[in-house]
Amino acid sequence: MTALVWLRSDLRTVWHSPLTYATENHEHVSAVYFVTPGQWQHYGLAPIKLDLLMRRLLALREELAERGLSLNLIEVEDFNAIPGALKQLCSQHSITHLYFNAEYELDERKRDHEVKELLGAQNVKVGFFHDTCMVRPDRLFNKQGAPYKVFTPYFHQWLDQLKASLPIPKAWHAPADSLCLTNSLDKDHETLRRWLDKSSGGWPCREQDIVSQIQSFLSQHVDQYAELRDFPAQQGTSGVSPYLSIGAVSPAQLTYQMLVQHGPELLEGQGGAFVWLRELAWRDFYRYVMFHFPHVCRYRCFNQKYDHFHWHNDKQLFDAWCNGQTGYPIVDAAMRCLNATGWMHNRLRMIVASFLCKHLLLPWRWGEDYFMQKLIDGDFASNNGGWQWSASVGTDAAPYFRIFNPAAQGQRYDPEGEFLLQWVPELKAVPRKYLHEPQKWPGARALDYPLPVVEHKQAVAATKERFSQFLESQ
Ligand code: FAD
Repeated sequence: MTALVWLRSDLRTVWHSPLTYATENHEHVSAVYFVTPGQWQHYGLAPIKLDLLMRRLLALREELAERGLSLNLIEVEDFNAIPGALKQLCSQHSITHLYFNAEYELDERKRDHEVKELLGAQNVKVGFFHDTCMVRPDRLFNKQGAPYKVFTPYFHQWLDQLKASLPIPKAWHAPADSLCLTNSLDKDHETLRRWLDKSSGGWPCREQDIVSQIQSFLSQHVDQYAELRDFPAQQGTSGVSPYLSIGAVSPAQLTYQMLVQHGPELLEGQGGAFVWLRELAWRDFYRYVMFHFPHVCRYRCFNQKYDHFHWHNDKQLFDAWCNGQTGYPIVDAAMRCLNATGWMHNRLRMIVASFLCKHLLLPWRWGEDYFMQKLIDGDFASNNGGWQWSASVGTDAAPYFRIFNPAAQGQRYDPEGEFLLQWVPELKAVPRKYLHEPQKWPGARALDYPLPVVEHKQAVAATKERFSQFLESQ
């Protein structure tokens, strides 16, 4: 009996249930990954994310080969072509079993459903696992048996579930035989080269380098996480999101590592490690929301009444936001950083998202799309959840009248302008006191820096008015 492991957003050799299960139960095991350019284009994935993905795939291919498993890279246009391609592979190579990790996005679920139907008709057994989340989304419900819509009660149950079933590493051994199903390595390089542009070069792509980077965060920095995580000029966060988004590491692997370093008291609610664990739970939560409320995958608001909210469709303001030319220094610095590096700190994501939705009243979906086109860690669930939260249309959303003041945020989280001046050097001459509101500095006219595109107090008042009128009309 020959098994095929289908790799998707789980590009690692360890903490991988399908690999463990397949190698425990079959002598002949191969792995496949489908390269889907049309799908990536449809999702608007950032070139830097694709570069990391391709580098990871090539590294993974070598890592798996060293362990006796062959990873076959097959190019098809998009998800629609995958069921047919799998059917063909299974019949050509007498594959009897297919294993993979569940993905919870709507298109992905539709694709997997079609695969199960088609292969089932061919007597190929399909088995799937739930490594994508720490706690699988179909396991948590409130007392009424309904899915949670708010994070905190979800998190309490999430934690109980984690305590009841702590992660345990699972090994796998080399199969007796691993088929090369299609391409040669040279051809694979050819297939992948189109997306390799070196933009993600600063991010390691080999498993042992990724893991050691994370271990050093967990051993040296996680204790200060609660104090430092909001300051973009500090190395206060882990930088693990690009790897989680392609599955180069798994949440169970990270949690296990923390438990090894911090002991079971980690789960008792204290210290930086616990705060960090809670962030991993946010990641799970947005996947959970997507699983139970799939309309969010169709450009709809979680809170569907807001689908009819009237946003401004002002392309000029949107361009100013995208290009870091709004006249709000912390917003502009964050956007320029994103454009140049493919990365943005979480505090800044919240500030620029609030600014787009609440100061400019632009559609949150524009921001969501733009982030996907630029971020190295672009991830549908976390991005969608973050944007809906910022626009006050999602689960557990910020109330519409709570609007970030960008200048105050800047003063609080980048008081010396360390981060800001890296990206908005035009403000180097501005005294610290005025850095976050340069238009108030008497010398502002001489600066080569735009005036604010909207006035803070007026914009906030207009937004509150718009939201309150909308809600009254419902
Ligand atoms: P750490 O602070 O070290 O946190 C560890 C991990 O916890 C992260 O890697 C991430 O997996 C998870 N996490 C942390 N904060 C959040 C959060 N607010 N929501 C969900 N998971 C979280 N994250 C993405 O991975 N991809 C996205 O496309 C994305 N888009 C976002 C858009 C907006 C508008 C907002 C407000 C947030 C978005 N986030 C996204 C969440 C968060 O900003 C990033 O996960 C975080 O900045 C990644 O940095 P880190 O790995 O150093 O995080």
